[in-house]
Amino acid sequence: MPFQAPRGTFDILPDEEEIWNKVQQACFETARLFGYRYIETPVFEESGLFQRTVGENTDIVEKEMYSFDDKGGENISLRPENTAGVCRAFIENGLHNTTLPSRLFYYGPMFRYERPQSGRYRQFHQFGIECIGEASPDVDYEVIKIAWDVLKILDFGNVVLNVNSLGDSQDRYLYSEELKKYYSKYLNDLPRVDQLRFERSPLRILDSKEDITIKISEDAPKTLDFISTESSIHHENLILNLDQLSSIDKEFKYKINHRLVRGLDYYNKTVFEYTSDSLGPQGVLLGGGRYDPLIKILGGQDTPAVGFAMGIERAVNELKKNIDIEKNYVDAVLIVTNDDLRIQSAQIANNLRNHKIRTIIAPRKSIKAQMRFANNINSKCAVFIGHDELEANKLSIKLLQEKSEQIDIDLNDISQFKKILSS
Ligand code: AMP
Repeated sequence: MPFQAPRGTFDILPDEEEIWNKVQQACFETARLFGYRYIETPVFEESGLFQRTVGENTDIVEKEMYSFDDKGGENISLRPENTAGVCRAFIENGLHNTTLPSRLFYYGPMFRYERPQSGRYRQFHQFGIECIGEASPDVDYEVIKIAWDVLKILDFGNVVLNVNSLGDSQDRYLYSEELKKYYSKYLNDLPRVDQLRFERSPLRILDSKEDITIKISEDAPKTLDFISTESSIHHENLILNLDQLSSIDKEFKYKINHRLVRGLDYYNKTVFEYTSDSLGPQGVLLGGGRYDPLIKILGGQDTPAVGFAMGIERAVNELKKNIDIEKNYVDAVLIVTNDDLRIQSAQIANNLRNHKIRTIIAPRKSIKAQMRFANNINSKCAVFIGHDELEANKLSIKLLQEKSEQIDIDLNDISQFKKILSS
């Protein structure tokens, strides 16, 4: 049996590079327009970091982390998400001593041992935004708007922002008690996974994907009825901004989703997700929220923060449906008519590459087979290198795409060649 990529992972093949770049470019350019700067942290961290931040009772920490003892006996985990790593880096590198808020973005692979299914992988990529050091709802709106701008550039249809507020930890405690009271009436009807959540983290029952639980949750108490005045004002201020955006941009739609609590323990106040109908059951394109307590939990100064993470694979898969892949990745294939000209051909190829002409030398085969090779890889042109051409200090270029002219150019005037390629 030949080796295969591990379950839940995949290869990004050359034809797909352009789409991946397009998504990455949309993310990076938008983040930079809002004054965000790139940060990169290691793909593995001490396991304790995720236990403290993501939360001991979450699916991620309980079931999905790739954790192992390294050769030095350190318990290490591949990162399942990157907010924890960014916050660790923020504290460790003393970024709280710089002008706040720190506007940061990241991009890279994440790892979760999940049951692989469409749109759900064990190694996947996330682009994320973290705005650390500002408590105002203005920045909640800012990160939501960054996400919206990225999705717009990528031409996502039918995207809806779901938003909710969880209030602060005190509010959450009261709310959890209220939820427990509500669900205790239906405890026997709840599926086993949700019965377990009832004891450990009742809020996450609202997040359940089980049909019965979704039905039962329809009349559950709403977080917004339990949050403090301060959290309410924060929420209303964000909503004013969102209303303003929808009045200017008719494509922007949002709804208050009372069941939205997000899976991770560290969120407070604003939580949000963008969902798309076209993605089916894996419809969540990105999610985020405020996580004011996190930096302090990690031993830093009390520093409010808000951010989101976007799954790149889902954006890439969606884009694949609408994009024609550029097949033209080579400008020139050198057809070497005599094998004794191979060394000279290699020099000519280098000269062309120095002028940014993408060049391959055809394999040592018959001229006919070399031409077939040039056509098969969709080269823009074939360049004949023979004794006659070299004596006359010329390159003989045959265009292979729409036009099929043959043109001679001076070997010392490559700019002429560039003009032909771009015409
Ligand atoms: P989360 O960190 O769970 O809030 O996820 C944020 C975004 O990352 C989701 O909305 C997805 O787009 C993406 N995502 C999360 N888990 C996976 C996965 N296993 N495979 C692919 N994308 C994922």
